[in-house]
Amino acid sequence: MKKIVVYPGSFDPITYGHLDIIKRALKISDRVIVAVAHNTDKRPFFSVKERVSMLKKAVKGLKGVEVGDFDGLVIKYVRKKGARVVIRGLRMISDFEYEFQMALTNRKLANDIETIFMMPSESYSYLSSKLIKEAASFGANIKGFVPRFVEQAIKEKLSRVKLAFDRKD
Ligand code: ADP
Repeated sequence: MKKIVVYPGSFDPITYGHLDIIKRALKISDRVIVAVAHNTDKRPFFSVKERVSMLKKAVKGLKGVEVGDFDGLVIKYVRKKGARVVIRGLRMISDFEYEFQMALTNRKLANDIETIFMMPSESYSYLSSKLIKEAASFGANIKGFVPRFVEQAIKEKLSRVKLAFDRKD
């Protein structure tokens, strides 16, 4: 039987940290489904369509990886895909509390689904989509953190946001 795992998240946008986890997940499964969440509390910078499209581009050369999106409960999506495993990344202790809560809630809702945590290479353990967007908005070079086309997409989006803001004045 094929081992299918689902890696859900906001991916707003994809970073090298996410890619690191995707590659590790491939080592323990036959198929990794990277799933972009619609209903996130964090007001997303990129639309679901944009995030999915960037992810697809980023995983293009990785055999066994596919990209999808879901609305609502992640466990429902996991079941729909015929998977039994959720992959999440753990960077710092600060991730732990939220991840722990979510994993236990999901277990309560679906006892047949397990959450597996994976640690990225230490060079990505401080990386977050939020930090990258913030750094880019202050003009920092984010080259080593995200693929080139993501860097470009962030810059374009920031200049469009700035333009709309300037017009309002
Ligand atoms: P979410 O809104 O679900 O937290 P993210 O896109 O921020 O979405 O993260 C998705 C998953 O990837 C989470 O489990 C998060 O901890 C993990 N993750 C994010 N950045 C990294 C990174 N640099 N290294 C390892 N895991 C990461």
